[in-house]
Amino acid sequence: MAAPKALVAGNWKMNGLTASVDQIEKLNALVTEGSVGCDILICPPATLISALSGKGIDIGAQDCHMNVSGAHTGDISAAMLKDLGCHYVIVGHSERRADHGETNDTVKAKAKAVQEQGLTAIICVGETDEEREKGETLDVVTSQVVGSIPENASADNTVIAYEPVWAIGTGKVPTTNDVAEVHAVIRSLLLDRFGDAGEMVRIQYGGSVKASNASELMSVANVNGALVGGASLKAEDFYGIIKTYQ
Ligand code: PEP
Repeated sequence: MAAPKALVAGNWKMNGLTASVDQIEKLNALVTEGSVGCDILICPPATLISALSGKGIDIGAQDCHMNVSGAHTGDISAAMLKDLGCHYVIVGHSERRADHGETNDTVKAKAKAVQEQGLTAIICVGETDEEREKGETLDVVTSQVVGSIPENASADNTVIAYEPVWAIGTGKVPTTNDVAEVHAVIRSLLLDRFGDAGEMVRIQYGGSVKASNASELMSVANVNGALVGGASLKAEDFYGIIKTYQ
């Protein structure tokens, strides 16, 4: 069975100033020296997209508005991100779902806006600690996947990132069996949704991925790369994860 090429993406969240250009240059040097077998992406804050673009590493965004333009003070549209050269936009990160009240409907509208610009949406899903304790993980993830993928999405412009909320930034990671179980459910939802093409949709794992646990997590069935927060801020740390795919 063919497997999609892995995508290892860094989410810098609200971190980084113009001096962070150094990290991109360092990362590009490391990647150029080694032979890397995955796609690599950095999603910096929107303020850094222009400064970091054109330095050899693909640059994406962390969020966008669901409209193309209009009276939305402070917001940024997918069309603007495309204009800056982004190919990917993260939507529905748990921090946006929690801090900004984003529902599956909001996430779906944002993913649609991204895909209508010809960009790829990285749609984040994942259960909270409480939901896992109550045995609701598979139901929560299923409703997020089904409810957040737009009607007109295709296998080519969709990436799913499974990020258990309790694993983000905590140093805790699920067992490989737990990751395998959730990723298998997501794969079967993608096959239902896209037919055979669903096999080629990348499903990333995210949540406290570091160089020391990456090879174990990335070897789990249906894990096609990682979405990385803290360990993507320094080029050497992030490259330690990327190297898993050498
Ligand atoms: C994230 O925020 O997407 C994430 C996975 O963070 P961390 O790697 O720091 O847990």
